[in-house]
Amino acid sequence: MSDYKHILLAVDFSEGGNYVAEKALSLAYKHKSKLSIIHVLDNIPMPDTNYGTVIDLNQDSAYDLLEEEKAKLREVGKVLGVAIEHQHLVWGIPKQEIIAFANQHQVDLIILGSHGRHGLALLLGSSANAVLHTALCDVMAVRLPME
Ligand code: AMP
Repeated sequence: MSDYKHILLAVDFSEGGNYVAEKALSLAYKHKSKLSIIHVLDNIPMPDTNYGTVIDLNQDSAYDLLEEEKAKLREVGKVLGVAIEHQHLVWGIPKQEIIAFANQHQVDLIILGSHGRHGLALLLGSSANAVLHTALCDVMAVRLPME
């Protein structure tokens, strides 16, 4: 198997996210890959903004909710040792933005949880399922233990 050069970890700050992140870190270490992380804001209304908007993590915003999400992403990045330029906060629809980022940045492996904030109702979460079916690169859905 050839090495993965660029791994993208999709984080939604849900329970179980640390477990997924540990897997990503371990794989990135083994393959000596670049590791990027992405969080897609799908729960903060941002009027007059197009989907797919990239949010600058270095700039403060007056929007408290946005600051909270930035802080959470920075914290994940710090724990994983991912530099700020490889931490990405994007506004839009998670499945679309994860795929778009992967296509635009030569990602060769996307890692996500089998489930996230949207619960365990389905065998595979909806974002996970959509990414698995539409990504052009490999996708690893980390099976989260059922409660
Ligand atoms: P879901 O399909 O929504 O249950 O979530 C499955 C996985 O997709 C999660 O464990 C995350 O890895 C990823 N994911 C879901 N929502 C987002 C999001 N808003 N931003 C980044 N990754 C996400």
